Amino acid sequence: MAYTIAEPCIGTKDTACVNVCPVDCIHLRKDEDNFQTTFALYIDPDTCIDCGACVPECPVSAIFPNDDVPEQWSEYIQKNADWYVMSREDFDAKWAAQEAAVYKARMESGELKEEGTVAGFDPAQYGL
Ligand code: SF4
Ligand code: SF4
Repeated sequence: MAYTIAEPCIGTKDTACVNVCPVDCIHLRKDEDNFQTTFALYIDPDTCIDCGACVPECPVSAIFPNDDVPEQWSEYIQKNADWYVMSREDFDAKWAAQEAAVYKARMESGELKEEGTVAGFDPAQYGL
């Protein structure tokens, strides 16, 4: 199995989970290229050792064991895995519009956290 980061990370992205992961399988870290341009963080399912240490660190309860991911966020299991096997271009083609819609809604509702902001975000780029 593995753990998955679901929708609540979008617009939060505070990296609290990254700091406790014993196998460094949550990315992007703040010091990695492109951190500012991603909507959320993702767990590498092939490296995750199912320790659960990241779960209580998340301020928005975004992390679940794959078996317990809420049904409305079940596609995030695939999304987390895709991040580690797809090019950024292909990943964005598959997922960015959906993530952008969540991000925009969070921005408009005032839920967006400073650390969760995406540099250069342009809703029109995603047809929003
Ligand atoms: S469950 Fe453990 S190994 Fe997996 S992402 Fe969370 S902290 Fe890392
Ligand atoms: S702790 Fe939660 S909100 Fe923060 S980066 Fe990790 S999954 Fe996202």
